[in-house]
Amino acid sequence: MAIRRSAAKRKGLPSVVQLRLTPAPDQADALTAAVLLCNQAATFVSRLAWQQRTFTMGELHRQAYYPVRAEFAGLGAQAAVRAIARVAGAYANRRATKTRAHVFRPYGAVPYDARLMSWNRDARTVSLWTPTGRVTVPYTGRPEALKAVDTLPLGEADLIFRRGEWLLHVAVTLPKPAVREPVNGFLGVDQGVANLAVTNDGAVLPGPALPGPIGGNGHVRSLRERRYRQRRRLQKKGTPAARRVLRRLSGREHRMMTDVNHQISNHVVCEAERTGRGIALEDLQGIRGRVRAHRLQRRTLHGWAFAQLIAFTRYKAARAGVAFLLVDPAYTSQACPDCGCVTRANRPARGRFVCTGCGLAGHADHIAACNIAVRGVAGWAVVNQPHATGLPSARRDRESKPPVSTGGS
Ligand SMILES: [Zn+2]
Repeated sequence: MAIRRSAAKRKGLPSVVQLRLTPAPDQADALTAAVLLCNQAATFVSRLAWQQRTFTMGELHRQAYYPVRAEFAGLGAQAAVRAIARVAGAYANRRATKTRAHVFRPYGAVPYDARLMSWNRDARTVSLWTPTGRVTVPYTGRPEALKAVDTLPLGEADLIFRRGEWLLHVAVTLPKPAVREPVNGFLGVDQGVANLAVTNDGAVLPGPALPGPIGGNGHVRSLRERRYRQRRRLQKKGTPAARRVLRRLSGREHRMMTDVNHQISNHVVCEAERTGRGIALEDLQGIRGRVRAHRLQRRTLHGWAFAQLIAFTRYKAARAGVAFLLVDPAYTSQACPDCGCVTRANRPARGRFVCTGCGLAGHADHIAACNIAVRGVAGWAVVNQPHATGLPSARRDRESKPPVSTGGS
């Protein structure tokens, strides 16, 4: 399947819509020929790629284009290009784990791009390339699918033959929901090594199986610590067997962290949407040049996971129309969100924050999240209302939120 069924379902319209084609018998024969030919051609190119160990798009095109055109007479130039692209895509992420050439099923879904098809939305027909010429086929679908195809920009489509039916899965571009003005301030999210994510509400994510309000993410943390030690041991060993184990571990770890990051970002976006707030996270991109490593960089074990949480939260926020902002990560763990005092002395013990200025005490990650929330409010004001007066500054009480508007009207 060339099209990802992305999770953009919240706003009613799916990002991939299904149409049912109603070809005449001779058209159906032509479509069958197209599907079989395209999949044979892709398998042919795939074997070539495997034999020659050529997997990148450009190089594969140079090596395979003329052979595949010569082998399959009915394959046009554009269909040949698409077959090569499919093969490159199929090997893109899985090359290392493949033990033989990728084979495309004879009736597998065939991707059609703009050069292989054209739409007549008024007549509700689509013209599709086949080896014996284009066929113009009527389509039907559920009302919401037809509405999407009628009104939205259309992307690639997959031609699918399933249980005697011809289907077209069409990628549609959803309109971006407008970002709503955060009316209740920002939800600050602190990413940590001990606690994966802590919000300024005091929630430790992914909850809720926690001993106490901020106790740490028991099993995830211990798993990560164990993996970290195991990894160090295996890296030191450096034998082929050790490297194999490392690869397997990294895949498992990757899946676990990706799952956890989906849970955290879902929670954060839902909570921000429910409470009319924006979302602020620390900008981890901007901290590379610092002399002292940021607390998230001191251990690089899951560096990518922090960036992934940012990416997930950003796109889910955009989908929900929730404001999203990255803020300066400097001293978020040492600054006092109440009085603004910044000093290392505010951190008397690991995980603990006690302000030397005003005595505010709390869990360090929670305090950091409060600082991030405050910076989110300030940053949003700067970005969106350059002439606004009375910016909430870092010196203000963290509980003071911008006036609550009744929304809408
Ligand atoms: Zn203070």
